[in-house]
Amino acid sequence: MEKTVFEPDFLICPAGGLISGRKDFTMAKYTSSQLQKSINATIEELASLIDEAQFSQEIEVYLETVAKFHHYSIHNQLLIKDTFPKASHVAGFCTWRDQFNRTVKKGERGIPILAPIRVKDQSPDEDEEPTYKVFFKVVYVFDISQTEGDEIPALDVWKSPEYKPELQKILINYAESLGLTVDYQEIGAAQGALTSENKILLNLTAGTKTLVHEIAHHLAEHFESKKPHEQRELEAEATAYAVCRHFGFEDLKSPNYLYLTGLTTDDLKASLTTISTLAQQIINQIEERIS
Ligand SMILES: [Zn+2]
Repeated sequence: MEKTVFEPDFLICPAGGLISGRKDFTMAKYTSSQLQKSINATIEELASLIDEAQFSQEIEVYLETVAKFHHYSIHNQLLIKDTFPKASHVAGFCTWRDQFNRTVKKGERGIPILAPIRVKDQSPDEDEEPTYKVFFKVVYVFDISQTEGDEIPALDVWKSPEYKPELQKILINYAESLGLTVDYQEIGAAQGALTSENKILLNLTAGTKTLVHEIAHHLAEHFESKKPHEQRELEAEATAYAVCRHFGFEDLKSPNYLYLTGLTTDDLKASLTTISTLAQQIINQIEERIS
């Protein structure tokens, strides 16, 4: 697999463009107890924002939109990826028309998937519970890019729009020193992924926060960990939040992400020590590389 490329991230950077040079960082020297205090305050801030996310209109619109999309089986997701690798949001012809007020563009070819059909077995005895046979038939769905009409609300509301190229470079350098490789590639709906072969995969639209999130998964040894999935996400995401806030990122969408993952402020507080330790470790490593 190819090694890290920075350019795609910069080219599609929606916010602010390139910031060069070290003035990207206004560094204050912290003692370790000051740093810990500041991280804890950031986690407190995150906790209160998770509560707010619960009531935010942005989340409401997001959930409403998600509910309109059918969730396809893994098998069908693979079929969709096979026929239309760039598919992001797919739905049937009528769903696009009736739920989203969008029509399929002329000449677009449907993406075939398999739909189960339940057929009642002939049962001679009326009293017996009916049994069913399941058959599959091919039906067609369409990706959003094959349709036109009303805008649909952005689904990736939690994505960090901020980019700091210098920080990104330092983080990649740090990741590599940990034995990780970082690759950019189209990976569907997720922003990032960590593989068991110590590879961090970043979606082309992923920001710095996602990179920190994946490094945190690695440092916390989440691959070997028996912790529930939600807790692993919590530790990685809250760490990424604390690190990015420390380096001046604003308007991060972590509260929405954590809320949608089903996490509460109590879960966050219960993991405070782990998060704080991970965040300090990453911040210290970054600062060493800046100075
Ligand atoms: Zn994760």
